[in-house]
Amino acid sequence: MEDILKAAGRIYSENFPPETWFERAIFYSWYCGIHDCAFCYMSSKPAQKCAIRRTESIIAEVILCKLLGWKIGFISGGVGALEKDKFLQLLKAIHPIVGKVWLNVGALDLENLKEYAPYAEGVVASVETINSVLHSKLCPSKPIEPYEKMLQNALKLGLKTGMTIIIGLGEEEQDYPLLKEFIKKNRISKIHFYSLNPQKGTPFEKAKPPTKEEQGWWIANTRVDFPTIDIQAGIWADRVNRVGYLLLAGANSISKFPATRKFGSKEANEIEKQSANAGRVFLGSLTKPPVLSLGDLLGCVDEKIKDNVEASLKKYLTRIKPQKPLNKSSV
Ligand code: SF4
Repeated sequence: MEDILKAAGRIYSENFPPETWFERAIFYSWYCGIHDCAFCYMSSKPAQKCAIRRTESIIAEVILCKLLGWKIGFISGGVGALEKDKFLQLLKAIHPIVGKVWLNVGALDLENLKEYAPYAEGVVASVETINSVLHSKLCPSKPIEPYEKMLQNALKLGLKTGMTIIIGLGEEEQDYPLLKEFIKKNRISKIHFYSLNPQKGTPFEKAKPPTKEEQGWWIANTRVDFPTIDIQAGIWADRVNRVGYLLLAGANSISKFPATRKFGSKEANEIEKQSANAGRVFLGSLTKPPVLSLGDLLGCVDEKIKDNVEASLKKYLTRIKPQKPLNKSSV
């Protein structure tokens, strides 16, 4: 492990500046039409078709990310939760604020891809596990083939391609060649390596999350084989002590930290400290409230929803303890 870590660290520094950052996934729903992936929080809850967020709240979250220097990992929501036109409207509303974003919204067909393409940097296939036997067992209603088709169509349209993997579902190191092949075949330029977060009410409730070495092993091997791929490492509030290790293994950024709830907490400080110890400059902040200059950002928001976006933003900013209150004169 030590050798592969060293190689991954060297390859990272040959290809990227010594920086890291936090990426936030923006969710628009807590409902998913698939609803039977064995490890998933959404599968453990009764289906609630109406559990869709208000656009104003989503836009406020996007603005908050921009203010704090967090990147948007992707826009996501349960499969079938939002009608096509409404999703397109949402992308159009987000675009003036942060530009093109990655989409992780199920296996999109070519027609959908074409419509979303002007607002999309790329599409993410939520593969979860590359072992096909495991995949059929754990994601019975989410076969990989439609996702591969989406990735291939996306490439034809000039979009980037990404994927997710959850370490800890039962995959073994011997499955790595399958991942390598998938990345090559689908020209994956961004990969998210999560570590299993056992959810109450799922068969994984009592499962042990992977160790930092297990998560780091997959990251380091991927870094060595794909020097310029963008690797995001998912952590949770209870795993901040592995941030430095995952960065040394070759990850570019981190995600899955409950950054608004834990803003300025000891865990947030630990992430920034571990990043510095790994020799990375942390872009943006998980600990320092933003300087409030919202004029330009709210200026990008549709007049019809601007007041509600501002109200949602105020709530977020209260939660993360801004240095001074938001008022109209600062907008
Ligand atoms: S498709 Fe995604 S959101 Fe839906 S049940 Fe499966 S893992 Fe959960």
